[in-house]
Amino acid sequence: MKYTVNIDDIEQALFALGGEAKAKAIQDQVLKVHCGESIPDNYQHEKSFRQTIQRKMEDYCPQAEGFDLSKKEPKFIRVGHGLYRHANGSGKREFTAAEEVPDAKQYVEGATRSIAVNAYERSADARNKCVEHYGYKCQCCGFSFEEKYGELGKAFIHVHHVKPLAEIKNSYVVDPIKDLIPLCANCHAMVHRASPAISIEKLKAEIKCRSQA
Ligand SMILES: [Zn+2]
Ligand SMILES: [Zn+2]
Repeated sequence: MKYTVNIDDIEQALFALGGEAKAKAIQDQVLKVHCGESIPDNYQHEKSFRQTIQRKMEDYCPQAEGFDLSKKEPKFIRVGHGLYRHANGSGKREFTAAEEVPDAKQYVEGATRSIAVNAYERSADARNKCVEHYGYKCQCCGFSFEEKYGELGKAFIHVHHVKPLAEIKNSYVVDPIKDLIPLCANCHAMVHRASPAISIEKLKAEIKCRSQA
Protein backbone atom coordinates (compact mmCIF):
# COMPACT_ATOMS: atom_id res chain seq x y z
CA MET A 1 0.00 0.00 0.00
CA LYS A 2 0.95 3.62 -0.51
CA TYR A 3 0.83 6.30 2.13
CA THR A 4 2.42 9.74 2.36
CA VAL A 5 3.52 11.05 5.72
CA ASN A 6 1.75 14.29 6.58
CA ILE A 7 1.80 16.70 9.46
CA ASP A 8 -1.85 16.18 10.53
CA ASP A 9 -1.38 12.46 11.01
CA ILE A 10 1.84 13.03 12.96
CA GLU A 11 0.09 15.55 15.18
CA GLN A 12 -2.77 13.19 15.81
CA ALA A 13 -0.40 10.35 16.63
CA LEU A 14 1.34 12.55 19.19
CA PHE A 15 -1.97 13.54 20.76
CA ALA A 16 -2.99 9.89 20.92
CA LEU A 17 0.24 9.20 22.80
CA GLY A 18 -0.58 11.81 25.44
CA GLY A 19 1.17 14.82 23.90
CA GLU A 20 4.74 13.66 24.51
CA ALA A 21 6.49 10.75 22.82
CA LYS A 22 9.65 9.43 21.21
CA ALA A 23 9.97 9.63 17.42
CA LYS A 24 9.88 5.82 17.28
CA ALA A 25 6.60 5.67 19.20
CA ILE A 26 5.10 8.34 16.94
CA GLN A 27 6.18 6.32 13.92
CA ASP A 28 4.59 3.15 15.30
CA GLN A 29 1.37 5.01 16.02
CA VAL A 30 1.20 6.40 12.47
CA LEU A 31 1.88 2.94 11.07
CA LYS A 32 -0.81 1.42 13.27
CA VAL A 33 -3.51 3.92 12.37
CA HIS A 34 -2.78 4.53 8.68
CA CYS A 35 -0.69 1.67 7.28
CA GLY A 36 -1.87 -1.55 8.88
CA GLU A 37 1.38 -1.65 10.85
CA SER A 38 3.60 -2.22 7.84
CA ILE A 39 5.94 0.21 6.09
CA PRO A 40 4.17 1.64 3.01
CA ASP A 41 5.57 0.61 -0.40
CA ASN A 42 6.63 4.13 -1.30
CA TYR A 43 9.25 4.16 1.48
CA GLN A 44 12.36 2.02 1.14
CA HIS A 45 12.52 0.83 4.70
CA GLU A 46 11.58 1.67 8.27
CA LYS A 47 14.49 4.07 8.64
CA SER A 48 13.51 6.25 5.70
CA PHE A 49 9.91 6.27 6.92
CA ARG A 50 10.96 7.40 10.38
CA GLN A 51 13.37 9.99 8.97
CA THR A 52 10.54 11.47 6.93
CA ILE A 53 8.41 11.76 10.05
CA GLN A 54 11.22 13.37 12.01
CA ARG A 55 12.03 15.77 9.18
CA LYS A 56 8.40 16.87 9.04
CA MET A 57 8.38 17.39 12.80
CA GLU A 58 11.57 19.43 12.64
CA ASP A 59 9.86 21.65 10.05
CA TYR A 60 7.46 22.65 12.81
CA CYS A 61 9.96 22.71 15.68
CA PRO A 62 10.97 26.21 16.87
CA GLN A 63 14.31 24.83 18.08
CA ALA A 64 15.29 23.79 14.56
CA GLU A 65 17.88 25.80 12.67
CA GLY A 66 16.25 28.46 10.50
CA PHE A 67 12.78 28.08 11.98
CA ASP A 68 10.70 31.12 11.10
CA LEU A 69 7.82 31.91 13.44
CA SER A 70 6.28 34.29 10.93
CA LYS A 71 5.90 31.47 8.40
CA LYS A 72 5.08 28.47 10.53
CA GLU A 73 3.34 27.86 13.78
CA PRO A 74 5.41 25.80 16.24
CA LYS A 75 3.91 22.36 16.73
CA PHE A 76 6.61 20.15 18.18
CA ILE A 77 9.14 20.86 20.91
CA ARG A 78 12.18 18.71 21.52
CA VAL A 79 12.27 17.98 25.23
CA GLY A 80 14.88 15.22 25.22
CA HIS A 81 16.86 13.02 22.87
CA GLY A 82 14.41 12.00 20.14
CA LEU A 83 11.60 12.99 22.49
CA TYR A 84 8.94 15.41 21.28
CA ARG A 85 6.12 17.23 22.99
CA HIS A 86 3.25 19.00 21.30
CA ALA A 87 3.69 22.77 21.55
CA ASN A 88 0.07 23.23 22.57
CA GLY A 89 0.35 20.46 25.09
CA SER A 90 -2.36 17.95 25.92
CA GLY A 91 -2.78 15.01 28.21
CA LYS A 92 0.19 15.15 30.53
CA ARG A 93 0.20 18.92 31.02
CA GLU A 94 -0.84 18.87 34.65
CA PHE A 95 0.67 22.08 35.93
CA THR A 96 0.04 24.72 33.32
CA ALA A 97 -0.48 27.79 35.53
CA ALA A 98 1.27 31.11 35.07
CA GLU A 99 4.77 30.15 33.98
CA GLU A 100 5.11 32.30 30.94
CA VAL A 101 8.08 34.36 29.87
CA PRO A 102 6.16 37.45 28.76
CA ASP A 103 9.11 39.79 28.25
CA ALA A 104 10.80 37.44 25.82
CA LYS A 105 7.77 37.66 23.53
CA GLN A 106 8.84 41.08 22.33
CA TYR A 107 11.12 39.40 19.85
CA VAL A 108 10.44 36.65 17.39
CA GLU A 109 13.48 34.73 18.51
CA GLY A 110 12.52 35.28 22.10
CA ALA A 111 9.03 34.01 21.38
CA THR A 112 10.15 30.72 19.90
CA ARG A 113 12.59 30.28 22.75
CA SER A 114 10.03 31.12 25.36
CA ILE A 115 7.77 28.42 23.93
CA ALA A 116 10.67 26.00 24.14
CA VAL A 117 11.54 26.96 27.69
CA ASN A 118 7.96 26.68 28.81
CA ALA A 119 7.94 23.21 27.33
CA TYR A 120 10.96 22.31 29.45
CA GLU A 121 9.17 23.63 32.51
CA ARG A 122 6.18 21.51 31.56
CA SER A 123 7.94 18.30 30.63
CA ALA A 124 6.30 15.84 33.02
CA ASP A 125 9.30 13.58 33.28
CA ALA A 126 11.85 16.31 34.01
CA ARG A 127 9.45 17.93 36.46
CA ASN A 128 8.93 14.68 38.36
CA LYS A 129 12.66 14.15 38.73
CA CYS A 130 13.08 17.74 39.90
CA VAL A 131 10.46 17.53 42.68
CA GLU A 132 11.68 14.07 43.63
CA HIS A 133 15.02 15.72 44.36
CA TYR A 134 13.91 19.02 45.94
CA GLY A 135 10.46 18.24 47.30
CA TYR A 136 7.36 20.45 46.99
CA LYS A 137 8.62 23.44 49.00
CA CYS A 138 9.49 26.68 47.25
CA GLN A 139 13.28 26.78 47.02
CA CYS A 140 13.22 30.53 47.37
CA CYS A 141 10.88 31.33 50.29
CA GLY A 142 10.09 27.89 51.72
CA PHE A 143 6.35 28.15 51.01
CA SER A 144 4.44 24.87 50.95
CA PHE A 145 1.06 24.71 49.20
CA GLU A 146 0.14 21.69 51.31
CA GLU A 147 0.88 23.49 54.59
CA LYS A 148 -1.22 26.44 53.47
CA TYR A 149 -4.08 24.75 51.61
CA GLY A 150 -4.10 21.20 52.99
CA GLU A 151 -5.14 18.36 50.70
CA LEU A 152 -5.87 20.77 47.84
CA GLY A 153 -2.29 22.01 47.77
CA LYS A 154 -0.70 18.59 48.05
CA ALA A 155 1.97 17.87 45.43
CA PHE A 156 1.47 21.29 43.83
CA ILE A 157 4.41 23.50 42.92
CA HIS A 158 5.65 25.41 39.90
CA VAL A 159 8.88 24.28 38.33
CA HIS A 160 11.12 27.05 37.04
CA HIS A 161 13.74 26.65 34.34
CA VAL A 162 16.88 28.46 35.54
CA LYS A 163 19.08 28.34 32.45
CA PRO A 164 19.18 31.71 30.64
CA LEU A 165 17.45 31.67 27.25
CA ALA A 166 20.60 32.75 25.46
CA GLU A 167 22.48 29.67 26.64
CA ILE A 168 19.98 27.22 25.22
CA LYS A 169 21.28 25.38 22.22
CA ASN A 170 19.23 23.64 19.57
CA SER A 171 19.56 20.11 20.85
CA TYR A 172 19.37 20.96 24.51
CA VAL A 173 18.53 18.26 27.03
CA VAL A 174 17.22 19.44 30.37
CA ASP A 175 18.99 18.41 33.60
CA PRO A 176 16.11 18.15 36.11
CA ILE A 177 18.31 19.03 39.09
CA LYS A 178 20.67 21.67 37.69
CA ASP A 179 18.27 23.33 35.24
CA LEU A 180 14.95 23.13 37.09
CA ILE A 181 13.90 24.36 40.52
CA PRO A 182 10.58 24.23 42.41
CA LEU A 183 9.15 27.66 43.17
CA CYS A 184 5.84 28.83 44.62
CA ALA A 185 3.59 30.82 42.27
CA ASN A 186 4.60 34.14 43.84
CA CYS A 187 8.34 33.62 43.66
CA HIS A 188 7.98 32.21 40.16
CA ALA A 189 6.11 35.30 39.03
CA MET A 190 8.76 37.52 40.67
CA VAL A 191 11.78 35.86 39.00
CA HIS A 192 10.05 36.41 35.65
CA ARG A 193 9.61 40.14 36.30
CA ALA A 194 12.91 40.64 34.49
CA SER A 195 14.30 39.16 31.32
CA PRO A 196 16.43 37.11 31.61
CA ALA A 197 14.82 35.83 34.79
CA ILE A 198 16.19 37.00 38.13
CA SER A 199 18.39 34.43 39.84
CA ILE A 200 17.07 32.46 42.80
CA GLU A 201 19.96 33.75 44.94
CA LYS A 202 19.08 37.34 44.15
CA LEU A 203 15.39 36.86 44.96
CA LYS A 204 16.30 35.05 48.17
CA ALA A 205 18.51 37.97 49.19
CA GLU A 206 15.66 40.37 48.39
CA ILE A 207 13.24 38.44 50.62
CA LYS A 208 15.81 38.23 53.40
CA CYS A 209 16.59 41.92 53.40
CA ARG A 210 12.87 42.76 53.56
CA SER A 211 12.16 40.44 56.46
CA GLN A 212 14.97 42.09 58.41
CA ALA A 213 13.69 45.60 57.78
ZN1 LIG B 1 8.28 31.19 47.13
ZN1 LIG C 1 10.00 30.07 35.16
